[in-house]
Formats: sequence, C-alpha cells, structure tokens
Amino acid sequence: MAKFQPHLETCPICGSAGNCHIHDYYGRSIIDFQAGKREKSDLCVMRVFCDSCEHAHAILPDVIIPYSSYSLLFILRLLGQYFAGRFTIEQLCERYQISTKQFYKWLSLWKTHKQEWLGILSDLDTSDVSFLRSIILLDSFSSFAMGFILHFAHSFLQSHRNPIPASLKNAQYHQKVFAPDISIF
Ligand SMILES: [Zn+2]
Repeated sequence: MAKFQPHLETCPICGSAGNCHIHDYYGRSIIDFQAGKREKSDLCVMRVFCDSCEHAHAILPDVIIPYSSYSLLFILRLLGQYFAGRFTIEQLCERYQISTKQFYKWLSLWKTHKQEWLGILSDLDTSDVSFLRSIILLDSFSSFAMGFILHFAHSFLQSHRNPIPASLKNAQYHQKVFAPDISIF
C-alpha cells in the first residue's frame, strides 16, 4: 500500500482521472492462519474520495476477500491441505476452527470459480492441486486476482455479490481499478 498513489488513479465509478484523494481510514479485523494456528489481526483500510462523482471507495489489498472475515490465504491454506489429502475434513475443521458447513461452502465456491476461470474443458483436465499451485506460484498473484475481477465482476472466492452504488445504476465494480501493486506470495 505504500506504493499506492490515489491521485494517479482513475475513478471506477465515473472514469475520471486524477480526482481521487485519501478520504479516511477505517479499522476491521481479519482471520488468518499462520504458523499452524488461527489468528485474528487488525487492519487499517484506506478509503479514497473522488471529487468528480463524490463517491468513496475502499482500497482492499489482495489478501482481503470482499465481505469475508477470513483472509484469502486462510481459505487457500485450508483447501490446499484438503487437496493434499493428508487430513480428513473433520481434522481440518478442528484445526482451522470452522464448521463443516463452512468448509463445504468454500469448497463449492472454489469448484465454481475454478471452472469459471478455466472453462469447462480445461477444468476437467486440471486438478485442484495443480490449479492451486498455478495461482499461488504466479509472479504476482495480483494479476490473477485482478484478471478474475475483470472477467466476473467479483473477487476470487467471494461469496456475496457487490452492492450497486446508490446513485449510479450502471457503475462498474469498485475494485476494478484500485489494484494496489502488491504481491502476497
Ligand atoms: Zn468518480
């Protein structure tokens, strides 16, 4: 986020350039899984304001899935361990302190998004493990994440749809343009 320069961005709502500036910051927490245990961290999220259309936008780094309290890496680690076949679902749910219902929700979201991204034919030819490897080994995970958003108008593994901004019916997805240039792997 240190490299992010709001005044150089194009507004995702009205499309004007150079009209955004830092508006404020808000705090939120995120659940992550590090060094073998579940952890809750506090995050400070920047909001920018566009002077042209008077909309505020939150700048979400890649590790955040919109509307999810769990970090992207939490879910990818969980699924990766499941695909590797070393743990049963019950063991994984206990380790990650989640319900089996939540596990199946993420697994089904993973399957749907994998198929959306790869297309039906490639999806059948690509195992879960190799797809997971291919996205986490990308030089910049950001490019995959942004590519996914641009194609489908929601983030990878995002389960809730994005709200449509109140005053503009045809506004584009907010995260589309505001992609901080960071790499998480
Ligand atoms: Zn604007």
